[in-house]
Amino acid sequence: MLIEIERGRNQTLQQIRDLAARFGNRIEIMEGTGVFDTIHVIGDTRGFGDREDYVRSLPGVRAFFHAASGYANIARTIRGKDGVAQRRDRRVVEVPGLDGKIRRIGGGKHMFLVGPDSPQTLPQTLAIARMARELGERFGILDRLILRGGAFKPRTRPNDWRGLGMKGIAMLDAAREESGIPYVTEIMDHNRVEEIGTHADMLQIGTRNAQNFDLLESVGRFGKPVILKRGFGNEIEEWFYAAEYVANQGNLNICLCERGMKTLFTKGGYCRNQPDLNAITHARKQTILPVIFDPSHVAGDYRIVPENLMASVAHLVDGTITETLHEESFRQEQLCDAAQALTMESYSVLVEAVLTYEEKVLPLMRKVTGEPDPNR
Ligand code: PEP
Ligand code: MN
Repeated sequence: MLIEIERGRNQTLQQIRDLAARFGNRIEIMEGTGVFDTIHVIGDTRGFGDREDYVRSLPGVRAFFHAASGYANIARTIRGKDGVAQRRDRRVVEVPGLDGKIRRIGGGKHMFLVGPDSPQTLPQTLAIARMARELGERFGILDRLILRGGAFKPRTRPNDWRGLGMKGIAMLDAAREESGIPYVTEIMDHNRVEEIGTHADMLQIGTRNAQNFDLLESVGRFGKPVILKRGFGNEIEEWFYAAEYVANQGNLNICLCERGMKTLFTKGGYCRNQPDLNAITHARKQTILPVIFDPSHVAGDYRIVPENLMASVAHLVDGTITETLHEESFRQEQLCDAAQALTMESYSVLVEAVLTYEEKVLPLMRKVTGEPDPNR
């Protein structure tokens, strides 16, 4: 634990020294070049760390850093035997399908999560599932496809359409039945995890609920695979802590999803959310969890979804989750996120682009970035 303090604050220094002694910690002071020094608190600092707010409140304290991560269950580097750093392998999140194929997110091949923003009609939902199946067969990637669709929609404006609820879940069930492809759906209420989770193959926690701790824990206890979107205003570590809420309930089947954030620049309207592509790389380095990307909510406009998706592929993302229409004429019927949906026809071209990139360019990217090829 490191504390930055103004030089000459002797009373504060003594208070920190006393607090450290109370928890059996030793301190060392490193002199800075300017007017701040750094106090290093050494030893098992958990008790001391619990007093962070108190320490921050002392006069002259400028910053307080936790050296140890608070997300040991998902961290890539943990404290191993004898206190030596241990680097763990990245995890693969497995989602089995009715067709007997297991979807492996984080297994080294790009995973394609695709479907409507929300199931609205049965013909629409089934048509997308059939097209996805056809796409999977055509490119030999059925085991890399997962359907998506939100039946419970978090809406900013309370009078907007909020999804079909369990009727929508029944449509997704039918789509899975017909195509054999598993599906992911959003869950918002921690009291309904079991009810919805017994239907779904994978649960999504959306950006608005990314720090709903009751929900995170319920989904953690339930155990089915989870997509955890990053809160649109969350710092990267807050996202990791949210994942830790799921993990520390015993569920490590978590897939992180970067979906962009609200910034000063999104206000002007050229994109809906600003993507943090470097977060993909960072999350893949700092955690053992697979990381996917959502180009649809980043873009907000189907015309700029393709380049966003490909940018994430260049960032070695483990998969993408994309919203689609079965046909262009449905755009005017769609009650949520109509502007950002790609037609399945365009999507299939994009899939071909990803597969081509994967074959031709990714081996070179892996060489340049030093990322090991998990297939080898
Ligand atoms: C969605 O996937 O439709 C959705 C609402 O996502 P987000 O939580 O990222 O906005
Ligand atoms: Mn959406």
